[in-house]
Amino acid sequence: MGKLDVKMLRYLTSEDFRVLTAIEMGMKNHELVPALLAAQIANLRYGGVHKLLKEMCKHRLLSYERGKRYDGYRLTNTGYDYLALKVLTQRGTICSFGNQIGVGKESNIYVVANEDETPLCLKLHRLGRTCFRNIKGKRDYLQHRHSASWLYLSRIAATREFAYMKALLDRGFPVPKPIDFNRHCVVMELVEGGPLCNVNEVNNVEALYDELMDLIVRLGNHGVIHGDFNEFNIMIKNDGKPVIIDFPQMVSTEHENAEAYFQRDVNCIRDFFKRRFGYESELYPTFQDITREDCIDNEVRASGFAKQVEKEIDIFLTDLDIEYTEEKDNENIETNEKDEKETYEDCVDEVENLQSQFNDLQFQNQISKKDFDLPTQE
Ligand code: ADP
Ligand code: MG
Repeated sequence: MGKLDVKMLRYLTSEDFRVLTAIEMGMKNHELVPALLAAQIANLRYGGVHKLLKEMCKHRLLSYERGKRYDGYRLTNTGYDYLALKVLTQRGTICSFGNQIGVGKESNIYVVANEDETPLCLKLHRLGRTCFRNIKGKRDYLQHRHSASWLYLSRIAATREFAYMKALLDRGFPVPKPIDFNRHCVVMELVEGGPLCNVNEVNNVEALYDELMDLIVRLGNHGVIHGDFNEFNIMIKNDGKPVIIDFPQMVSTEHENAEAYFQRDVNCIRDFFKRRFGYESELYPTFQDITREDCIDNEVRASGFAKQVEKEIDIFLTDLDIEYTEEKDNENIETNEKDEKETYEDCVDEVENLQSQFNDLQFQNQISKKDFDLPTQE
């Protein structure tokens, strides 16, 4: 686990970023983005763009691949990271980069710092192309954008996480303070402490157990279930207090399997306390204990993505649970033989549409933080 490789950020020009963003836009509808399409989206001259594209391939921000009908470019993980980090540094949210502190199954976590040198936590979501490969063929709705699915899903995961953290913090839950997000990156407060899985001794086992069960119930009262409430997603601060992290998979208490998810969260805690501390209690909450006086989910849904998207992601995340594999070779994706290949003419037809989306995206980058009505920072 090393440092985030950000040295190129300094050397990339605004034209580079324009071209990189154009590839990102093109990938919404195309497996591979031809140079000409990128030039048209970015509204730059083809000759110049061609050179920039080649240069960015050298630095592995893009990869150039051969398709059936035409060849084109694809954004790499690094390329996508750079786009988000550029925005976050431009906004002044972060200004220096430190070491990696965690690898989750769907993320990389780094320490970064803002202008005041306050250390912060940067989470880069990486919902894999590999996960997608597993469900390919089963789901119509992703067939047409499978090349972009990892961009899309990682971005949704980050947006959800940010929105949930904000809603939970507003309601007094012990969660890291969300600071900013862009694309697949979330910047949040750095919790000083470590995950519960590394804790072998606590002052008062019973009190901690009660506190965690109480949190599960309180989440339920606000209409949500964490969905992955285990010793890896509970941090214990240096003062012994728990902080909950990792929210993209949260589900509504209205979900058809809500009761099962709720029980699973409760059982995770019971099992862990038994295993680690030899602690067992007859007292544990059930789904019937929750009051649902509030519905955080509505707020999160209203905060920037359409219901349709939400539905797709729900289905996708459910699949992910079951079918996630250990493969991490994100740079290789098999092309689906049965996929109908688009022609280059299809691409050109869409240029106008993409150009307007491109402008929207530039605009969004400036306003999306405000959209969430962030509390003013102390
Ligand atoms: P994943 O979704 O990939 O499981 P998590 O959000 O659970 O990612 O984070 C993975 C690990 O990174 C955690 O177990 C924890 O050790 C560390 N981590 C995550 N968020 C923070 C934070 N805000 N402060 C300190 N460490 C964190
Ligand atoms: Mg986790």
